[in-house]
Amino acid sequence: LVRLRARLARSQNALGRTLLVLLSRDTLDDEAWEEIEDTLIGADIGVTVSREITEALRTRVQVLGARTPAQVRGLLREELLKQVSDGFAEDTDRGLRTAPHGTRPAVVMVVGVNGTGKTTTCGKLARVLVGDGRSVVLGAADTFRAAAADQLETWGARVGAQVVRKDEGADPASVAFDAVKRGVDGKVDTVIVDTAGRLHTKTGLMDELGKVKRVVEKQAAVDEVLLVLDATTGQNGMQQARVFAEVVNVTGIVLTKLDGTAKGGIVIAVQRELGVPVKLVGLGEGPDDLAPFEAEAFVDAIIG
Ligand code: GDP
Repeated sequence: LVRLRARLARSQNALGRTLLVLLSRDTLDDEAWEEIEDTLIGADIGVTVSREITEALRTRVQVLGARTPAQVRGLLREELLKQVSDGFAEDTDRGLRTAPHGTRPAVVMVVGVNGTGKTTTCGKLARVLVGDGRSVVLGAADTFRAAAADQLETWGARVGAQVVRKDEGADPASVAFDAVKRGVDGKVDTVIVDTAGRLHTKTGLMDELGKVKRVVEKQAAVDEVLLVLDATTGQNGMQQARVFAEVVNVTGIVLTKLDGTAKGGIVIAVQRELGVPVKLVGLGEGPDDLAPFEAEAFVDAIIG
């Protein structure tokens, strides 16, 4: 975890440096506050929230008579933490419901637009669970993208999880059904279902994901629907998040590619918009590059 913190810090610290320079000015005048707000907006925190944070900070700096950059920075940390925490309890709300139920496997559906890192996230999550001594079935229900099933199979072999797949173009729901059946029959702890993320039409997506979910639920309840969002896509990602949230009941967000951007502020925007916590972050392409989201570590990484 320490290593992950350090890596998060590395990707985020461009923002931290900018803020630090701004907060170190002798006088924080209107212009400085505007620049602070713009810096937050530039980190994808969103216009409204950036304004709220800046206003709250400005008021507190005045009321408390904060003088030193360290004091101002401390206050900014508090304001950011308030927004990032967003009323979610770290242990309960951000925890994954992947524990075995005894009578049936825990089921996790992974949804999101193609290219966001869904398949990779399935593989990495399987790795974490197998590392905890759990058995895992990976269901390759993304039958639309030619390489997705192969990719998942590679992950399965790599991390020690079974993979259920069918030919390209097969009915995604039938793959999901078979994966969960394998999980139930084999008394497997967790089934992770990778899905296709074609955003061609909302009804098409709704039909497909809805069917997958219904078919899965004939055998076992779906414990988690994780929406995968690419942190580098900014407001575009927000738009995608909205569509998916309308289509399925998202229970958690996985923010990927946080290693490649200083724009992690989308965490705040997406949690607010969907009312769903970010549970995991992707920090690279390797098997160990998935970390639980921690509000404090995240804020510390942002402000450097
Ligand atoms: P899918 O189409 O949503 O299933 O996306 P993939 O899992 O195939 O991922 C798309 C690309 O993003 C691949 O090249 C992955 O290796 C890469 N990727 C996925 N997650 C991360 C991450 O957290 N960080 C980085 N840097 N790359 C990632």
